[in-house]
Amino acid sequence: DGAITPLLFRAMMQRAGDEIIAARDWLSELDGVIGDGDHGVTMEIGWKAVQGALENAPGDETIEGSCKRMAKAFLDAVGASSGPLYATAFLRAGAAVSDRQNLDAGALAAWLAAALQGVRDRGRAEPGDKTMIDAWVPAVARAQEALATGAELAVIEAARDGAEAGMKATAGLESRRGRSAKLGARSKGHIDPGAASTFVILRAMAAAMAE
Ligand code: ADP
Ligand code: MG
Ligand code: MG
Repeated sequence: DGAITPLLFRAMMQRAGDEIIAARDWLSELDGVIGDGDHGVTMEIGWKAVQGALENAPGDETIEGSCKRMAKAFLDAVGASSGPLYATAFLRAGAAVSDRQNLDAGALAAWLAAALQGVRDRGRAEPGDKTMIDAWVPAVARAQEALATGAELAVIEAARDGAEAGMKATAGLESRRGRSAKLGARSKGHIDPGAASTFVILRAMAAAMAE
């Protein structure tokens, strides 16, 4: 049985919400350059809904149960294209750990991999299309590598570092998905906002776990 209890998991998600809200203006600025400028506001609305929903969670709720609660809150609150993408990520990540009370390193890596698969299944973007996928793919790959250490913190810190590298690398990509696709080559030179929000979430999860 691993170190991430349902209580710690919910604290990690509250922290993700706090850091998304703190990053709101940056996320909207990124989206203003290659999209419609709402990503920070969208994410703030979605994560405030998630935070409120988790505050109302029964104390004995499983991690899967909390993920379902987060998915519903996020989907109901967010109208933008990132709404169903993150909602599906939460739902599928939770389902991947439905047999767990606490998460060990392996279950955490499975949670991350299922989140990525959820975004892929929902949005049909491929790696290199300049989307949040491009942060999730290296995050999951590095998390898998860190599994050898057997430590939950090493896994989430590796995921965070992978997401950061992936986010930065989106600046070199030409968009083929979402609103920024219509800019074509002009989308180059700019970080994808969804890749940035993915990095913020994983960074917050790591920070909350390190405390
Ligand atoms: P909208 O584009 O509807 O305003 P947001 O601004 O909230 O929605 O989110 C934009 C982000 O959503 C993009 O930066 C990108 O990372 C992500 N995104 C858009 N379409 C897809 C897709 N098909 N697959 C994965 N991610 C996508
Ligand atoms: Mg937008
Ligand atoms: Mg929009």
